[in-house]
Amino acid sequence: MHKTIIISGAGVPGLLLSILLARSGFHIHLIDPAPAEKLKDIMPSGFTSAIMQDALEAVKQTNSWNVIQDFIAPLKTITICDRTLPGKEPTSISFSSRDIEQDMFGYNIPNYILRAALTEEAEGIKTITFHKKVKLDTYTATDFDVTAVLENGTEITGTLIIGADGRHSTVRQTAGITQKQIDYGIDAISLLVSHSKPHNNISTEIHRPCGPLTFVPLPGKTSSVVWTEKHDKASDIVGMRIQDIERHLHDLSGGILGTLKVQSAVNVHPLITLRSPKFSAKRAVILAEAAHVLHPLGAQGLNMSIRDVQAFIDVIQDATDLGLDIGSSAVLGQYQQRRIFDTNKRLASVHGLVSLLTHDIKPVHFLRRFGLQVTDSFPLLKRIMMQEGMRGIAA
Ligand SMILES: Cc1cc2nc3c(=O)[nH]c(=O)nc-3n(C[C@H](O)[C@H](O)[C@H](O)COP(=O)(O)OP(=O)(O)OC[C@H]3O[C@@H](n4cnc5c(N)ncnc54)[C@H](O)[C@@H]3O)c2cc1C
Repeated sequence: MHKTIIISGAGVPGLLLSILLARSGFHIHLIDPAPAEKLKDIMPSGFTSAIMQDALEAVKQTNSWNVIQDFIAPLKTITICDRTLPGKEPTSISFSSRDIEQDMFGYNIPNYILRAALTEEAEGIKTITFHKKVKLDTYTATDFDVTAVLENGTEITGTLIIGADGRHSTVRQTAGITQKQIDYGIDAISLLVSHSKPHNNISTEIHRPCGPLTFVPLPGKTSSVVWTEKHDKASDIVGMRIQDIERHLHDLSGGILGTLKVQSAVNVHPLITLRSPKFSAKRAVILAEAAHVLHPLGAQGLNMSIRDVQAFIDVIQDATDLGLDIGSSAVLGQYQQRRIFDTNKRLASVHGLVSLLTHDIKPVHFLRRFGLQVTDSFPLLKRIMMQEGMRGIAA
């Protein structure tokens, strides 16, 4: 008999998990109040993610990998340019994937395209029951099973429930798992631009006093932009005329990509760090942004979430092979053990980088610049940073 798993949240991690678990013989109930639109109807959005090689392995196991090929671009070089010292010439350092014998670090993938492709794939799998346009309201767990109650009153019983339902996770709250949150008072503005000069598959991260401004390659002469600004300034920018946004971006980037034209909506994302002290409770697991949220500096978030998916599948497959109860606390605790160290390490390193970058005191800016120059002079140090980068930390 198929075991039933309930997954709350059909973002990229929830969808990926549903497809891969369904392929391993599980029956999935997937719930989302705001599922993706059809691929053919989707509007361009600036929201993209750089996904590194190791995390890409899970995406490559789906049929969606072939579907998204025309929309993604390889990342071959990462250039970091420090402009934190007003009046001084910028300093830059470049990391090339060739220096670590790789063709590329990974791909820049539009989240909305990947999510739409995975949604269509999930809809075509008979063992996935998709509950669309309805929220998980609550659930109850016993020693034997878990019952999810949806907003419309529908009840679903399964062996365990997974919260992939984002930073305000209903599963996390129902499970009584606490979280610690840091609000940076900084927003990330995301948009797509076309440009007159080619990007040559170089992702350029310009470090400014309030954080990075990053141009990440997409096919042709297009890039996605992640532009961090203090909260009030970000609201002002979003209210600007498009021509003014283009001019402002051109000036901030020093014209490296030539003339810029905005090609999507301009969206704002408040930046926080969120950390949960544990990832499992009775017959429940939380993963992706339900368990951890990071500043986009270093392109960690979705990479970590996909690594959660890979680890969870490994643990469940081992437990199934051994004939164990996949919802037992021993099995779910093993998942937590697999992921907690990596998660805490990366949350701490990204938070440290953000503090270093946004500290408004001169000695810290000099220290940063010195760090970049030192790194550039030591090929071994650079190589270690790049190898770590292949696992998702690129800055
Ligand atoms: C500007 C920016 C740039 C980024 N760039 C990168 C990058 O380059 N590389 C990288 O790895 N990461 C990046 N990230 C992070 C990455 O985009 C996120 O980690 C990822 O999108 C989060 O996915 P998620 O599924 O956990 O959350 P979400 O995408 O928030 O999905 C949660 C889903 O749960 C659903 N949901 C909510 N409540 C309920 C409920 N009660 N019942 C059922 N469903 C529910 C929602 O409708 C939603 O579909 C970036 C983030 C930002 C803000």
